[in-house]
Amino acid sequence: MKYTDLQIQTQREAPNNARTEGFAFLVRAGFLTRENEMLPLGQQAISRLQDLLKDPSLLFQLSLPLFTNEHETFFPLPTGDVEIAHCESCKYSERLELAQFKKKALPREDELPLEKVLTPDCNTIESLANFLSVPKEKTAKALMYTRVSDGQFVFIVVRGDMQLSEAKLRNIVGEIKLADAESVRRAGAEAGFASPIGLTNALIVVDELIPRSHNLVAGANEAGYHLKNTNYPRDYSAEIVADVTQAKVGDLCVNCGNPLSTLPAISLASDSGFQFDNILLALAETYHDEKGLALPKSAAPFDVYLMHVPGKTINTLEKAEEIYNALQSAGISVLFDNRDERAGVKFNDADLIGCPIRITAGEKALKDEMVELKLRTAAGGNIVLVEKILNLKDISEIL
Ligand SMILES: [Zn+2]
Repeated sequence: MKYTDLQIQTQREAPNNARTEGFAFLVRAGFLTRENEMLPLGQQAISRLQDLLKDPSLLFQLSLPLFTNEHETFFPLPTGDVEIAHCESCKYSERLELAQFKKKALPREDELPLEKVLTPDCNTIESLANFLSVPKEKTAKALMYTRVSDGQFVFIVVRGDMQLSEAKLRNIVGEIKLADAESVRRAGAEAGFASPIGLTNALIVVDELIPRSHNLVAGANEAGYHLKNTNYPRDYSAEIVADVTQAKVGDLCVNCGNPLSTLPAISLASDSGFQFDNILLALAETYHDEKGLALPKSAAPFDVYLMHVPGKTINTLEKAEEIYNALQSAGISVLFDNRDERAGVKFNDADLIGCPIRITAGEKALKDEMVELKLRTAAGGNIVLVEKILNLKDISEIL
């Protein structure tokens, strides 16, 4: 393809909204606008990636630092929109909201009788734990939702020291929204003082840790009152007992017990397919130097950046055209910089765009029927016979 056909516009300066080097180079090289919209050169790069990843396993041969599990593959990036939990030791990686972790059960205790206590103004776990002088893990936290599909009231219990993961809950019961006051009242619950004891028509979901936690303080479903010593399943039953709590930094890896760390990332692939724009960004973050992108073979928009340096005695453009046509017929992908520009401008653009090979048709070498061939990642180039280039059958002969 010709440089002018793609209407490539390179930029001298990094955009001032660039938060990563990879993004800055994608904008400067003309793959993206600074508003992150794909330009024709970016589209070309994406279609090449789509071609490459017809064999999905090739993603793992691009030498990107990936975090992966059987459903999703992530690339770590400070500006990423996904928070992942990661285990250094066994490499367990998962979206934080879905990450599993080892939960610590409290020491076993004998079940004590229920006791209703006056707890004025204690409508949060913090105020309740303070008022009764009990640790938060000895309380039961109540959360109330409505299932969107059928309006079912859903009541969730997690231990007071833990947070609900709405993502895990959604995976179990379907799409949900916070319950409104009317649904709470209809089920027989009292906001701020709620528990599953004595509710009607509620789908009760308890975290897997609840059956292993004894004598918890829970709401009495009456304003101003709580119940001490609630026990599952003695005092209430649940339709679902499952992992519905959110992991945090330092929680223990479900596989090996090592503390989990968290980091921001972008998602490159999931069960629903590849996110090619994110893969392009991951490549740009990984493969660049101070001059621009330096993309690996078959992940670059083109294998070859072909350019001519306008000459005085030799028609270098014509010679470059000949090389362009020969390479195209051999099935090699070429970006032909056919502009009437100074060598320096073209060299800079070649470095910015980052094709693995640059071929330069200049007057001096052409006098000897030679052209310059330079690898993007090499310091200097070599002079080779034009004839050798014209007879290339595959890019692997020079890469
Ligand atoms: Zn682990």
